[in-house]
Amino acid sequence: MLRRYGQSGRVVLLTVVALAVLVCAAVCFLGRGRPVVRAASDVPSGSEGDVPEAGSASSGSSQPTLDVPSRYHGVLIRRRVRRFPQKLLALTFDDGPDPKVTPRVLDALERFGARATFFVIGKHVRRHPQLLKEIAARGHAVGSHGYAHVMHPTEERADSDLEANASLIREITGRGTLLYRPPGGFANSAGARAAVRRGMAVLLWTISSADAGHIKAETIIRNVLHTPQPGDIVLMHDGPGHGETAAALPAILSALEKEGYRFVTVPELLCAWDEWRRSSGLDERLEAQARPAKASNHSSANHHTMTSAPASGADSNSTTHSSRDRDATRHRWN
Ligand SMILES: [Zn+2]
Repeated sequence: MLRRYGQSGRVVLLTVVALAVLVCAAVCFLGRGRPVVRAASDVPSGSEGDVPEAGSASSGSSQPTLDVPSRYHGVLIRRRVRRFPQKLLALTFDDGPDPKVTPRVLDALERFGARATFFVIGKHVRRHPQLLKEIAARGHAVGSHGYAHVMHPTEERADSDLEANASLIREITGRGTLLYRPPGGFANSAGARAAVRRGMAVLLWTISSADAGHIKAETIIRNVLHTPQPGDIVLMHDGPGHGETAAALPAILSALEKEGYRFVTVPELLCAWDEWRRSSGLDERLEAQARPAKASNHSSANHHTMTSAPASGADSNSTTHSSRDRDATRHRWN
């Protein structure tokens, strides 16, 4: 057939074929190079879903930060920052998770759009990992309350207890925590010292609900609503047997919301404190008045050790009211 078109015809035909091959090759090459068609499974492992280190930069702008400002790493926090103006409160729940109490607490928080911080016990987490997942998934902060809730561990046991809880929290939530609350609120315990050595913020509280004494919901409500101040950290419990706290929570949230308070995680509150200290020039003034802080466990009086209802809300908060107008203090152990 080619003979009918002679030499020039063959040249034209070969040129057309060559061009077609070139176009095909170009299309194939460009198609393979399009990054948008790359399957998710092609993404090298480790480039997404990396576990953010506690204290690293925030992973998403729409999510509240769970990072603890560096000024609070390795320090004890037992008072709120002085003259803090924003109506923010950090509700904290110790001793959970518990299948009867924690879900009720989570639901109440959800209804009011509130975020909180849960200081969890490792042995409870081991039994109910799904509850810890749920806490983290709902945007709450997770802190360590020790693996076995030992109030006065040896130095050696304190370290291993802290490590056991830290790795469990990381394994289940996908991120570590820089928050620690010593069992019993004993700020001078080996557990607190071990947490400080690890660069964790050791958190006490500025308002106690006194619910460790298994008091009635009405008393818990009264204790928390007594005289909240902007920037307070509220101690409550969601561990086994704390149904009264779950029952009290909606009334607490409702009343405080009406007063204009917002409920944030401890890391969010610490960020707000941090910002306030810088913008108000408080740091300079504090440096001028600096005096050495003293380790103390006086604030622990209401925590876990209270076995009966306080005579009044004022009594339950007496240790915190005395320090209301003082600054958040921090203590470094040597
Ligand atoms: Zn506890």
